Amino acid sequence: MSDSDMDDLFLRIIAGEIPADVVRETDRVIAIRDINPQAPTHVLVVPKTRYRNAAELAAKDPDLLAEVVRVAGEVAEQEGIAEAGYRLLFNTNSDAGQTIFHVHLHLLGGERMGGLTGGPSHG
Ligand code: 5GP
Repeated sequence: MSDSDMDDLFLRIIAGEIPADVVRETDRVIAIRDINPQAPTHVLVVPKTRYRNAAELAAKDPDLLAEVVRVAGEVAEQEGIAEAGYRLLFNTNSDAGQTIFHVHLHLLGGERMGGLTGGPSHG
């Protein structure tokens, strides 16, 4: 791994250097429980190759983006929340609160969710 890879938490989890609660894995994607869950089910679906954000992933490897979304759906089924409903979310850059610059899809569910943001309203 390069020096910058050492700073990438998800690459370190994928390499097995940092423990994580893995709920599903394919050749190209890993799904782990968020360490600080914001809903009863909060899973991060992470491509094993690093792209900075969802737009970059979509531009460079659309098949991998599709796999990330498919695996999120499979995890939702596995968790028993698919029918009741769930939210998929990509934070991008600082205004959205992205803290880890290796793209990851948040899967949130297991309770009825309110409005999309807790941030300032513009009404
Ligand atoms: P972001 O804010 O970049 O969209 O999401 C990063 C997410 O990673 C946060 O929800 C945060 O709780 C989660 N996270 C941070 N450090 C760890 C860790 O060491 N393990 C796991 N499983 N999740 C983490």
